[in-house]
Amino acid sequence: MIIDIITIFPEMFNDFLKTSIVKRAIEDGKVTVNLHDLREYSHNKHRNIDDTPYGGGTGMLMAFPPFYDVIKKLKKENSKVIYLSPQGKLLDQPLAFKLAEYDHLILLCGHYEGIDERVLNFVDLEISIGDYILTGGELAVMVLVDAVTRLIPGVITLESVTEDSLTDGLLKYPQYTKPRTYKGFDVPEILLSGHHEEINKWRQRESLKATLKKRPDLLEKKTLTAAELEIIKSIKDK
Ligand code: SAM
Repeated sequence: MIIDIITIFPEMFNDFLKTSIVKRAIEDGKVTVNLHDLREYSHNKHRNIDDTPYGGGTGMLMAFPPFYDVIKKLKKENSKVIYLSPQGKLLDQPLAFKLAEYDHLILLCGHYEGIDERVLNFVDLEISIGDYILTGGELAVMVLVDAVTRLIPGVITLESVTEDSLTDGLLKYPQYTKPRTYKGFDVPEILLSGHHEEINKWRQRESLKATLKKRPDLLEKKTLTAAELEIIKSIKDK
């Protein structure tokens, strides 16, 4: 996958692209990330890319021509142009899976009061990372790139992807590591038993229990099996 990021703060991505899974995915050639400084596409000698809004109002708006020029230059037939925006579709795990299938993403970071609406004629999708307002699109782009990169086949093991919370519409079961006991806090006995079938049953129950407790809204969206419904009933009856 190729990811082109359009931003006025390319330096914000330096550490992000050199860390952890994203770094490894880049080194392994699974993803190529190109940073484009929008100011390079400014139409004036001061490298300005913003101006006051027509009709009045507070703040500055990012101008149309620099975005038009950079998108025209980068966009190919297989590209998806995405504007990170609080007005967009909320990023969730199913959407991240869908994005991981594309060959080429062009990600636009807004700033100030946002962007000239004419840019949206060249945008395929607006994506929000949550119902709050960020100062700029850069952090939202990092969230999207991180969430999508780990889903590109071969970046991390298929097992860890499929077992992650939300992949099957539930939260993951609780996990523990050594030491077995510390200051009176013990690891559940079942996990030390070596009984894989029993451990799997426990994990399924705990996954449903965690979802019921922390994210009951997920259970309303998921088509539950008869066995899962039975477990939920027994959790509620307890
Ligand atoms: N005035 C705009 C509005 O009311 O819709 C908000 C502009 S915001 C201060 C500046 C930029 O941050 C936006 O253009 C967008 O790129 C980014 N941004 C802010 N909140 C975001 C969110 N929740 N998800 C994704 N991007 C966001």
